[in-house]
Amino acid sequence: MEVVAGIYQIKGVANVYLVVDDDIMLIDTGLPGSSSKIIKYVKENLKRNPQDIKTIVITHHHFDHTGSLDKLKILSGAQVAVHSADAPYISENKKPVEMGFMRYMVNLIKFIYRTKPVEIDILLNDGDVINGYQVIQTPGHTPGSICLYNPQNKVLIVGDNLGYSKDKIVSPPANLLPEPEKYKKSMKKLENLDVEVILSGHSPPVTNEATSKLDEYLKDIN
Ligand SMILES: [Zn+2]
Ligand SMILES: [Zn+2]
Repeated sequence: MEVVAGIYQIKGVANVYLVVDDDIMLIDTGLPGSSSKIIKYVKENLKRNPQDIKTIVITHHHFDHTGSLDKLKILSGAQVAVHSADAPYISENKKPVEMGFMRYMVNLIKFIYRTKPVEIDILLNDGDVINGYQVIQTPGHTPGSICLYNPQNKVLIVGDNLGYSKDKIVSPPANLLPEPEKYKKSMKKLENLDVEVILSGHSPPVTNEATSKLDEYLKDIN
C-alpha cells in the first residue's frame, strides 16, 4: 500500500518500504524468504524492474530486517547501505548478544534458509544524506540503528526505534533495549524535527499529528 506519495509499505513480520522515484530505494528486507514477495510487488504493483532498486538501506542488523538481503542484493544489483556500527553483523556474521531461545531460533532459521554474509557497499554515519534522507544514528536497540529523515516530505523512518500503538508512540519492549541510556539520548536527537509521517518496522504508519505525538512521547521518556 502507498503510505505517503511515492512510499510503499509491504507488511510482514517486519515492514519493508519502497521509496519510489526514478530509482527505487528499498528500506529493510524482511525475514528470509521475503525476496520473491518483494520482487513480485515491484513488478506487479509498481510496474517496475527489480533492477530499478539501486539502493537497499538497512535500519539495523536484526534478522527480521536483513533476512532477505543476500537474495535481494543479487536479484536487484543494488548497493547496500548500513550504519558502520551494524555492518560487521551483516558482512562478517558478527554475533549479536542475543540470549537463549532467540539465539537458537535465529541460528535455526539462518541454517534453514542458508543466509549468507552480505558485502556492504556504503557505510553510513551520523549526518550522512542518502537519496535525500538524513541519517540519524540512534544506538540503543542495536549499536548502528538509524532513523532516516527527509526534510522535503517530512517523513521519518525509524526502524525498530519506535512503535505506534493505541494512538501513541511507544518504545520497544525493555528486553529489546540492551542499552537503555543510549537509547534515551538517541531519541532526544529527534526532538526538533518537523515530522508529518513516521514509518516503523513493526507498527502501522503515523500519518496525522506526528510531530505532537512524537513530542508527547519524548516528554514521557525524560
Ligand atoms: Zn530490531
Ligand atoms: Zn524488528
